[in-house]
Amino acid sequence: MFSRSSAAMADSGVPEDDELMYIPYWRFKGVRYACHTRGMTHKFLDLSALALEESFSNLPFSLGFRSQALPLKQITPKTRGRFLRPADAKTVLGRTQQSRSRIQEKSASGFTEDIGETRSLIYSPFYAKDGVLVDAILNRPTGSVPESDQDLQSLPVCRPEKQTVFVPGLCPACGWDLEGSRDSLVLVCRNCHSLWKARDRHLARIRFACARPGHDTDVMVPFWKISARISAFSLSSYADLVRLGNLPRALKPEWENKSLFFWAPAFKIRPRIFLRLATQLTACQPDPALEKKIGTQKHVPVTLPAAEAVQSIRILLAGLSKPLNDHLPALSQMQIEPVHAMLVYLAFEEQHHDYVHPGIQAAINRNVLALSSNL
Ligand SMILES: [Zn+2]
Repeated sequence: MFSRSSAAMADSGVPEDDELMYIPYWRFKGVRYACHTRGMTHKFLDLSALALEESFSNLPFSLGFRSQALPLKQITPKTRGRFLRPADAKTVLGRTQQSRSRIQEKSASGFTEDIGETRSLIYSPFYAKDGVLVDAILNRPTGSVPESDQDLQSLPVCRPEKQTVFVPGLCPACGWDLEGSRDSLVLVCRNCHSLWKARDRHLARIRFACARPGHDTDVMVPFWKISARISAFSLSSYADLVRLGNLPRALKPEWENKSLFFWAPAFKIRPRIFLRLATQLTACQPDPALEKKIGTQKHVPVTLPAAEAVQSIRILLAGLSKPLNDHLPALSQMQIEPVHAMLVYLAFEEQHHDYVHPGIQAAINRNVLALSSNL
């Protein structure tokens, strides 16, 4: 999860920037999966909520469709105006009905789960005119509530760009330039074969392994390999998974002792493809020879954190369960306790339209992947 500050652009015809007051809103984006007796559905979430400690009757509670429809610009030291200090995202989350806890409902007949939530801060411009607060996007009064307006004027302010922490793009271990796209959560050092992620004000090393690529043209695709304790569900070995999914393979006695790992893409992609890859890999339990070496191949950026991948375990188990309805009550009630997650890059062959892993028979459409960074 990461946060970025940007501001919605004001309508022309509003006062000079210096007179604008920017009100903060937390924006949450992700996919909500719902699993019921009729099967699995999903929808995209794009919610926003007023990020002030208290609510104000003359301020919209959310940005509605604006956060999707309006152009946003990054806030820089040159952006003029008065920016109200945002309340903590957790406080806002706890208060808003729209963004309830991640597991939205759990009952014997189904559950919902939100995955890939990205959090960002959007400032919406307002200004005061003749004792009335005016929405600078629509250039229209929000209501004449002078006493609340007074309160708004006395709220603490901040400079949002100063809250954004920039970490240098140099490898802390060897000083080499780190590689990573704008949306990547992980930076790569190809010199000393290390991976880094921003934590507070510094870069922290993260554990990873790469399957040995077959060709220079292979594409390295990142997945989270997770071990987790599952309660209220007999699911600790590969044999348990084969039984749960009625997988078309003869049970071997040694599978009763074979540890089970959950696999999920470490990148954002359309929900159907995300679920297909997670179930395919978890059903296959890939076990290639691994090395801690970053070759010259292209590495797909990591855009989904491990915590979100853990959230997908319930969904992928639902995708594997056959028949689903028999398992739904247990799936809804089970507790998932992650034990360990490691980033594993698998080598996919680059084909004309797809990246293909012949061993797992998994394919990822190249165009779909390229268009997924904005999900
Ligand atoms: Zn390095």
